[in-house]
Amino acid sequence: MTNEAGLSDEHSVSVERLTKTFPHGDRMLVALQEVTLEVQAGEFVCVVGASGSGKSTLLNVLAGLEGATAGQAHVHGRMALMFQEPALLPWLTAAENVELALELRHVRRAERKATAQELLELVHLHGFEKRRPHELSGGMKHRVALARALAQDADVLLMDEPFAALDAITRDLLHEELLRLWSSKGLTILFVTHNAREAVRLGDRVLVFTSRPGRVAHEIRVDLARPRSLDSPELAVIAGRITERLKQETRLRVG
Ligand code: ADP
Ligand code: MG
Repeated sequence: MTNEAGLSDEHSVSVERLTKTFPHGDRMLVALQEVTLEVQAGEFVCVVGASGSGKSTLLNVLAGLEGATAGQAHVHGRMALMFQEPALLPWLTAAENVELALELRHVRRAERKATAQELLELVHLHGFEKRRPHELSGGMKHRVALARALAQDADVLLMDEPFAALDAITRDLLHEELLRLWSSKGLTILFVTHNAREAVRLGDRVLVFTSRPGRVAHEIRVDLARPRSLDSPELAVIAGRITERLKQETRLRVG
């Protein structure tokens, strides 16, 4: 099935009244309470929330790493998950890290090398194929992780604060990279961050999470034209409003 944009309707994310609780001493901690959201095929949606608002729990349930307590959470399409840490295997080269993802998909050995090379070129790592993770900068390691995610032939990327540990300039470059791949490959992206500017820079929509229990408190549609600059006053205004809401939510919880 394809829509007008030529994208498959299957490459989407749907979450309906998802509740997730964890045992917490003799009580229950409600990490997510009746969260409902949708990411349509080809859409880029960001979730912002303070730490502890259940953002990682949401992605973990979507990825099948945690079960839902109640409600539904589904990814339609082939999914790749990216974390804050690039989580490369230190004894493998950049190329071998990507090849491993291909091998897990049963891509034939002869094809693996060429495909890994292509993917590393796509994230601008040409010439760094033979380096091991410790010989790469933080930004380069994230590029390898991005290439590895693409090697999984994912249509849907679930990203959990993937660039939070990087400096501002490297992060900005990776935003550009990610947006380029998103539009050229027609990816569907659910991107979690605690940074309102990053969310407005990237997303078609931004969902603001409250804490304890995690819920979708607000939804902001970002109508700014792309490419967007992190330094633009329009972006700063929208991000400012989101930050204000996050602060209000946090004050409500902390008192
Ligand atoms: P965020 O990613 O927004 O910082 P998390 O999803 O990591 O938030 O956590 C939400 C809440 O759920 C926190 O209070 C956290 O302590 C709790 N939590 C997350 N994972 C577990 C777990 N495996 N066991 C118990 N509590 C957890
Ligand atoms: Mg988290």
